[in-house]
Amino acid sequence: MAHASVSFWLSQVLGPGAGAPASPGAGAEAGSASRPSLDGDATADVCIVGAGFTGLWTAYYLKKAQPSLGVTVLEQRFAGYGASGRNGGWLTNSVTGGREQYVASHGRAGAQAMQSAMTASVHEVIRVAEAEGIDADIALGGELNVARNPAQLARLHDWAEGEAGWTDVDAELLDAGQASARIAVDGTLGGLWQPHCARIQPAKLVRGLASVVERLGVELHENTTVAAIEPRAVGRPARAVTARGNVDADVVVRATEGFTARLPGAHRAWVPLNSSLIVTEPLSDAQWDAIGWANRDTLGDLAHVYMYAQRTADGRIAFGGRGVPYHFGSRFDPDGGTPRVTVRSLRDLLVRFFPVLSGVRVADAWSGVLGVPRDWAATVGLARASGLAWAGGYVGTGVTATNLAGRTLADLVLERYSELTTLPWVGHRVRNWEIEPLRYIAVNGLYKAYGMADRAEDRGRTSTSAIARIADWVSGHK
Ligand SMILES: Cc1cc2nc3c(=O)[nH]c(=O)nc-3n(C[C@H](O)[C@H](O)[C@H](O)COP(=O)(O)OP(=O)(O)OC[C@H]3O[C@@H](n4cnc5c(N)ncnc54)[C@H](O)[C@@H]3O)c2cc1C
Repeated sequence: MAHASVSFWLSQVLGPGAGAPASPGAGAEAGSASRPSLDGDATADVCIVGAGFTGLWTAYYLKKAQPSLGVTVLEQRFAGYGASGRNGGWLTNSVTGGREQYVASHGRAGAQAMQSAMTASVHEVIRVAEAEGIDADIALGGELNVARNPAQLARLHDWAEGEAGWTDVDAELLDAGQASARIAVDGTLGGLWQPHCARIQPAKLVRGLASVVERLGVELHENTTVAAIEPRAVGRPARAVTARGNVDADVVVRATEGFTARLPGAHRAWVPLNSSLIVTEPLSDAQWDAIGWANRDTLGDLAHVYMYAQRTADGRIAFGGRGVPYHFGSRFDPDGGTPRVTVRSLRDLLVRFFPVLSGVRVADAWSGVLGVPRDWAATVGLARASGLAWAGGYVGTGVTATNLAGRTLADLVLERYSELTTLPWVGHRVRNWEIEPLRYIAVNGLYKAYGMADRAEDRGRTSTSAIARIADWVSGHK
């Protein structure tokens, strides 16, 4: 199996080898950039750091609202290089970190507003893709999560109960037969299906969006690493500092997600955690007949170390899960190299889900980084005094939330106080992660605990393992 590109999705758009460094040791700024780097000092009304979904949606809505605004985007490698060009392609309405946190902080109405905004954002992304002519293999097939052991089934029932009573969720509890009729996952005991989720090819969306914002007049510079983001100071506005020149702007937006830990002053803000995917060769008609999956639902499970999958437009399965372990000091491989052991364990799980695929070949494998805040809650905001804005910390559910973040940032920057700018995640701040070695011990310890809990549940435990409950409590994410 060759692993030459930073994701299968990007290689479909940019060709084989997309994103691989130009030569060994070429450093961060290399490979696949087609747009000019920053060339000397510049000014802008708004400078956005990072050309993933967050940065590009922000640029899009700013220019749509005010075409005369000067918007510059600075990207260390190329548009879509980060998680946006590598993810599982679930455009889902799931609220990062769960709705309950917002019930606690903003009451039920605040939590409902967040949920409704997420559901609306799924349909907004689909609308814009259509309006702008971006073909991102979008299929609105809903989201199916399956339980494969009794403890998972108990959690599934709790989850279904929790979903009832919220609007814009529309989840349906399925018995084993109904769930298997959608996708024939071996050992399914039940499922929860909800309609507000689309399968997408993420690199097609992010690359399409980059072209659209350029057409709107946004200046997009690739191969331009921002070394520091500085607040407004006496006699000058906020600043993005690069080795190729600085950009001074009324507002500088940090849209760097999993890479944020590399910026000065943000080292402990969001832990960069890896997630990894494999993709199969295209399956035969006979294999698809055995598996079903006619509606293109996205597929997940209720394991603590969960999987996520999609049926691709060209008839493959992309299957993801927990990737490379957390490295001491929040270090990670930006190109997302994926160890054989990770590929093997994802393939083994795929075959456990679909025994008919026992001989299937893995065509590609890759990894990317998520930004994980200490409370697992995403945030968006603008501090007007400093001129610094940010959005991120989406953990594993940013494909839709980035659109909501982009629209919200546009409103904040343009001082349009809307229903978006009062959503509970706006201005949310959380304490930093622990210093090392505590962070290393805690993060890897948590994943060991979740893995142990899954194994105990697979052996027949009928309720959620106590180890997992303690891990949830320690991590603060449930
Ligand atoms: C493997 C994987 C699977 C996932 N699956 C799903 C899924 O199915 N559904 C879902 O909702 N979410 C999923 N996610 C999460 C989702 O992809 C992210 O939340 C989302 O893409 C974040 O977008 P972003 O623009 O904020 O960050 P990114 O896409 O990471 O973009 C940040 C950009 O900033 C650039 N950058 C960073 N630092 C600098 C700097 N100093 N100077 C200049 N540029 C810089 C990076 O190169 C990058 O292009 C997944 C993530 C991963 C890694």
